[in-house]
Amino acid sequence: MDTQNKEVKPTNFIRNVIDADLLSGKHTLIKTRFPPEPNGYLHIGHAKSICLNFGTAADYDGFCNLRFDDTNPTKEDIEYVNSIKTDVEWLGFNWDSEVKFSSSYFDIFYKCAEELISKGLAYICFLSSDETREYRGTLKEPGKNSPYRDTNIEENLKLFKKMKLGGFKEGECVLRAKIDMSSSFMCMRDPTLYRIRFETHHQTNDDWCIYPMYDFAHCLGDAIEGVTHSLCTLEFQDNRRIYDWTLENLNTFNTSNRPHQYEFSRLNLEYATTSKRKLKLLVDNNYVNSWNDPRMPTISGLRRRGYTAASIRDFCERIGVSNVNSLTDISILESSIRDDLNNIAPRSMAVINPIKLVIENYPEGKIEILKAPIHPQKEEMGTREIFFSRELYIDKDDFVAEVSNNKYKRLAINKEVRLRNSYIIKATHFDTDDDGNIKTIFCTYDIDTLGKNPIDGRKVKGVIHFVESSKAIKAEFRIYDRLFLDSNPSKFEDLSASINPNSLEVKKGFVEPNLSNSTAEVSYQFEREGYFCRDSESDGLVFNKTVGLRDTWSH
Ligand code: ATP
Ligand code: MG
Repeated sequence: MDTQNKEVKPTNFIRNVIDADLLSGKHTLIKTRFPPEPNGYLHIGHAKSICLNFGTAADYDGFCNLRFDDTNPTKEDIEYVNSIKTDVEWLGFNWDSEVKFSSSYFDIFYKCAEELISKGLAYICFLSSDETREYRGTLKEPGKNSPYRDTNIEENLKLFKKMKLGGFKEGECVLRAKIDMSSSFMCMRDPTLYRIRFETHHQTNDDWCIYPMYDFAHCLGDAIEGVTHSLCTLEFQDNRRIYDWTLENLNTFNTSNRPHQYEFSRLNLEYATTSKRKLKLLVDNNYVNSWNDPRMPTISGLRRRGYTAASIRDFCERIGVSNVNSLTDISILESSIRDDLNNIAPRSMAVINPIKLVIENYPEGKIEILKAPIHPQKEEMGTREIFFSRELYIDKDDFVAEVSNNKYKRLAINKEVRLRNSYIIKATHFDTDDDGNIKTIFCTYDIDTLGKNPIDGRKVKGVIHFVESSKAIKAEFRIYDRLFLDSNPSKFEDLSASINPNSLEVKKGFVEPNLSNSTAEVSYQFEREGYFCRDSESDGLVFNKTVGLRDTWSH
């Protein structure tokens, strides 16, 4: 393997297993898979699994499949299939050859089930779901054998065929593995392998009315595809026993290089949920507008908010892979995007809470064109034109009538500040509307301060941003706060208990004219305000706040 040009990645327990398997000759080529069920949009937790599966395969010059584990037509939809493909590609990964579907192996799964029945290792069970639960026993007590456990092989084969041909009603019977009703692992107490569902499937239409259970289909899908290392999250640790039992009992798959399952900790992110089921509830109950609402921890939501694929990959690197569950600090995700955007985002000025500023000693009707750097540390990014005239907009929050403390760095009556990329001004007075709100601020400017300090040596520390009033373009700003009030909302079964009612604030202000044709999802640094990108789903000029300039949430 050519490792010369490869970045050295921090090791983890999975890489240790792979290294050992390559060394012993158990495997010569590494194959992984990312196996989403198409029952929702992908979220930031899936990004961790995607980076791990695709990233590990790439690091070892192996392959990674994208396989839809589509064994439950009740909850699945082609919309989710398509969104998942888009998200994986957007994150920057390519799957090996074409996309795979578990459903395209339904014939093989069926034959495998018949093989188990023929070996006396599976049977058709007619217990109701309540009875099955009762027979299963508890963690403290062993279960009882189903009365159908000893049906003879011939009869079971016939019954299974009848199930397949639609001879039984939904819920009337299931195919179960015959393992051990007193196993200390509940999942080994004769788990269900197949159930009846009269449901149209997004890939196989009405070809089937029996569908395999995840635990049965997953290991077979891996084995059929020649996956070597099957990486999944810790909650499947016990199920590894079914995985192994199934493969070991099937002639074709009981080989020395058959797949093995390894479990890593799932990502739980502060102030977010990484359960597709709960995310779907947020959409269905209109707590957010859609799966790609910029407040959602979905990949499509983060993308619409202005997160870059590179920042999400970087985040996944930073959190690493372990086998201990924990709650990840949201500031790690935010520093990943902040670090990326600080480096690449063009600078611009936007006034989010506008107030008029009139420079009384500036000639009426004159408009100056000034040059400002696109990125202060990157000269190669060039410059942009900004406009300056007698009438500007500044942010309301950058002005106070009276300063109570000398450290105040913004504009106040009789105080000077620099207007970013242009002149020094001094506020002289203001007028108010009938309700006493400040309407217009009046000031004077020092003509000799463009791009230089005052010649008399006086120090002006404050810098505020502005836009020229006749050239500025109206824009809407969507400022997001955390979607949940609690750092660990998953502790509430009903997430609405923790919803932040003020997670979206909409403001109307102005941007520089060159933003009129800015590209959606490409972030700018609005100087002094934060990173913003144009919304991909709105017609007008609407900007989503990606993240602030500094971490203001840390405690
Ligand atoms: P849900 O049960 O909410 O639908 P899931 O975990 O079953 O979610 P899948 O579509 O089956 O979702 O997940 C595909 C892959 O992504 C699996 O291998 C799963 O282990 C992994 N995955 C899902 N959530 C996370 C997470 N929070 N952190 C890391 N990996 C995850
Ligand atoms: Mg799942």
